[in-house]
Amino acid sequence: MGKTAQSVWNNCLEFIKDNIQPQAYKTWFEPIVAVKLTDNALSIQVPSKFFYEWLEEHYVKILKVSLTKELGDSAKLVYIIKMENTYGNKQPFTEKIPSSNRTAVKSQDVDIPLNNKSPELRNPFVIPGIRNVKIESQLNPNYSFENFLEGDSNRLARSAGLAVAVKPGGTSFNPLLIFGGVGLGKTHLAHAIGVEIKDKYPEKTVLYISAEKFTQQYIESVKKNNRNDFIHFYQIIDVLIIDDVQFFSGKSGTQDVFFHIFNHLHQNGKQVVLTSDKAPVDMQDIEQRLLSRFKWGLSAELQHPDFETRVSILKNKLYRDGVEMPDDIIEYVAKNIKTNVRELEGAIISLIAQSSFNKKEITLDLAKQIVEKFVKNTKREVSIDYIQKVVSDYFQMDIDTLQSKTRKRHIVQARQLAMFFAKKFTKASLASIGSQIGKRDHATVLHACKTVDNLSSTDKQFRKYVEDITKKLSV
Ligand code: ADP
Ligand code: MG
Repeated sequence: MGKTAQSVWNNCLEFIKDNIQPQAYKTWFEPIVAVKLTDNALSIQVPSKFFYEWLEEHYVKILKVSLTKELGDSAKLVYIIKMENTYGNKQPFTEKIPSSNRTAVKSQDVDIPLNNKSPELRNPFVIPGIRNVKIESQLNPNYSFENFLEGDSNRLARSAGLAVAVKPGGTSFNPLLIFGGVGLGKTHLAHAIGVEIKDKYPEKTVLYISAEKFTQQYIESVKKNNRNDFIHFYQIIDVLIIDDVQFFSGKSGTQDVFFHIFNHLHQNGKQVVLTSDKAPVDMQDIEQRLLSRFKWGLSAELQHPDFETRVSILKNKLYRDGVEMPDDIIEYVAKNIKTNVRELEGAIISLIAQSSFNKKEITLDLAKQIVEKFVKNTKREVSIDYIQKVVSDYFQMDIDTLQSKTRKRHIVQARQLAMFFAKKFTKASLASIGSQIGKRDHATVLHACKTVDNLSSTDKQFRKYVEDITKKLSV
């Protein structure tokens, strides 16, 4: 017989290619990898769940016909979905059977062993190899430079990232700190740097990790009494990328250990890349000596993308997904969603999803409905910092005054209002609100919320405050 997964799949592709549009073929079939052939079941690997759903929705018939031609009536197709976040260390693959010929298949868990046999390097990201220890980079290959579109808003950060990728540890951008608001591409750019370095220098040890995970690992190491192993593990890395370092704020143990790791890496010419939602000057509860290290290299801001950049980001995304959409709709979305690229993409994805699930055409009306939902939801997504700023501006005081320990009535009220709005407009816990607004405890925040509720139903002037600030926060 001599049939292999590859030969069967090649024949299927030939048939499919003759029967669909070239662009669709390129988008939806070229990225597929034939993985194995067992009996009459061909396993193919697709890049994402979305991809699999799209194939099932649009191409299941042609897949079936072509496969039946190759393998007969009992032919089966098994999808292996390569999860988008291959950098998460759980369940990198799941298998799906097309609806047309569903049979039970066990999902294949490829778990990375947590308790590896190399005691001196106890870390969840270490996979014991045969000879030496390999460190999984935890990088997401979809977050590449190629996919990170350039605009005025990100030019500095992007070029600095590229420079670092060309000569890791060899530029004055060490550390490179990328900062900016939510959904503006910090995580994407951080991965892109790592992906590019891995591409150029495969022998370099690159590690991407969120500050939160780093903290968890550190705490774990203290509990298990192997803090030194933890430090040693991080000191052998060539390129360390830590995402969302604002998470270190207030965590002095983690800051301390990071400080030592940082110094070691820096002295040895290793590259450090950090991201944060704030500029170093605005970071609270981060030790001075660490902040001064952050400033050694370059801090580059990601700003809100302008209209042209938003349009090109959307077009690029649509192109990659193989979806066509009229320009006026793309422009409508780009015009109305301004401050967050993640939401921009989210709106487009819901638009595609809505239209494909309900078999509706993508019209400007549908776009309006969806954008409205997004814009409404974003209004509620304000930060506690922003709330404090709005409230203190409203009462013409500065944030330090608002947070101070004073018992002056108007200041106390302003502080209570800030707490009240933080509770109302964010998902933060009472304790976390308290710690961010002048280091108070959760009981104080709870009391503040009750007081504001009471006062706004009994005091007309106070009610006006609440209404005015609500309006300001909702713009
Ligand atoms: P952050 O970490 O700053 O919150 P992310 O890196 O998660 O933001 O970005 C949110 C989404 O926006 C991601 O899907 C990312 O790919 C996309 N994105 C952000 N900036 C760009 C850009 N310049 N070009 C293409 N996609 C972008
Ligand atoms: Mg991020």
